Amino acid sequence: MPKKYDIIICGGGLAGLSLAYRAFKSGIWKDQQVLIIDKAEKTSNDRTWSFWEKAPGVFEDLVHHEWKQLIFYTNGKERIALDHLPYTYKTIKGLDFYNYVCEYLRKVASVDWLEDEVISSESIGDHCLIKTTKASFECTFAFNSLFDKPILKEKEQYFLQHFKGIRIRTKQVKFNADEAFLMDFRTSQKNGTTFFYTLPMSENEVFVEYTLFSKELLDKQIYDEEIKAYLSDILKITDYEILETEFGVIPMTDYNFNRRTGNIMNIGTAGGDTRGSTGYTFNNVQKTISKILYAFKQTGTPFFKSESLGVKEKLYDATLLNVLAERKYEGHQLFGDLFRGTKAKTVFAFLDGESNLLEEIQVMKSLKTWPFLKWFATIVMRKL
Ligand SMILES: Cc1cc2nc3c(=O)[nH]c(=O)nc-3n(C[C@H](O)[C@H](O)[C@H](O)COP(=O)(O)OP(=O)(O)OC[C@H]3O[C@@H](n4cnc5c(N)ncnc54)[C@H](O)[C@@H]3O)c2cc1C
Repeated sequence: MPKKYDIIICGGGLAGLSLAYRAFKSGIWKDQQVLIIDKAEKTSNDRTWSFWEKAPGVFEDLVHHEWKQLIFYTNGKERIALDHLPYTYKTIKGLDFYNYVCEYLRKVASVDWLEDEVISSESIGDHCLIKTTKASFECTFAFNSLFDKPILKEKEQYFLQHFKGIRIRTKQVKFNADEAFLMDFRTSQKNGTTFFYTLPMSENEVFVEYTLFSKELLDKQIYDEEIKAYLSDILKITDYEILETEFGVIPMTDYNFNRRTGNIMNIGTAGGDTRGSTGYTFNNVQKTISKILYAFKQTGTPFFKSESLGVKEKLYDATLLNVLAERKYEGHQLFGDLFRGTKAKTVFAFLDGESNLLEEIQVMKSLKTWPFLKWFATIVMRKL
């Protein structure tokens, strides 16, 4: 007989752990027996989450650094100081998050943990059946954050946001730890839309991340060569110690992720919480969890109706991805026009799906109209 739980969380990463933590912390799941399954214990700083926010967030105590001034550099080396307040840019270290959340959850008596690989999950009538390599479990509701590349429909776009980041210490340059380069395009664009996130952590420590939006990964050594060139040619740093490295791939797609199958809800990247046009995920995950918990409190089920990344946002994302794929309006020009022509706070509200019509017109006006109109119309026609 499979062991029974009220709730099973498949995947204890950002979405799974945020959900469990917030559900127990708020008392909403105080009567629920929960199992969290992950294939591996979180013991390393495998990622750093950066995001903008205009007020303290749910995990404010974990914010490792916050930047109050953001800069955009065009490929032509123009420096644009962004007008983004009240939004600031924040970063949370993955390991700080895992340690904090797991420490809290390990004290909750009704939470069990299993280190194993989930091999299948099925919603059958009013319950779910979860199988791992070693056992089977039943539950009323399951949350899945295991992500596999989906099978795309014809003409759906699937870009990879791939990046290598290093945190370095140097005595050659003094950084302004209040100022971050949100996008620095002062690098070759030959492999696709390519830029650096440059995030100083202190006067002599900086995190630089070589980032591309393209359909193929590069050979490993190219990431290192480009970082080295950026450090020496742009930041004038040749003498440094590497403290930490990060490599990652985030899907950027207009694929329509399925939120729910019966009593199984997909969350995180697997549930469509990664914004197709930017790859930013952290805040969308938290918004989705707010909706799940609100629904649970009201109805005893996690099912909510309206997505924070709704139809309109998905149309915009599909349009941008098709414009990028066409390569007639290159990514560096497009983002340059966007941040030159629109206040960053409007861009952030737009990307968060919280802009009004006037702000959306402002965003559109700053871009070359024709490629966007053409693709917007094409995509609307496809969906009809
Ligand atoms: C290196 C990196 C940096 C990123 N930086 C940012 C950023 O700065 N800002 C931002 O907004 N987004 C960022 N992202 C994107 C996104 O926020 C993260 O990918 C985030 O972790 C997604 O959360 P998730 O819960 O969907 O997936 P994950 O956090 O990856 O969680 C999924 C979990 O499932 C487990 N798992 C997988 N398969 C199985 C299986 N078969 N059985 C059991 N367990 C399994 C994994 O071990 C993992 O713990 C980054 C992504 C990466 C990879």
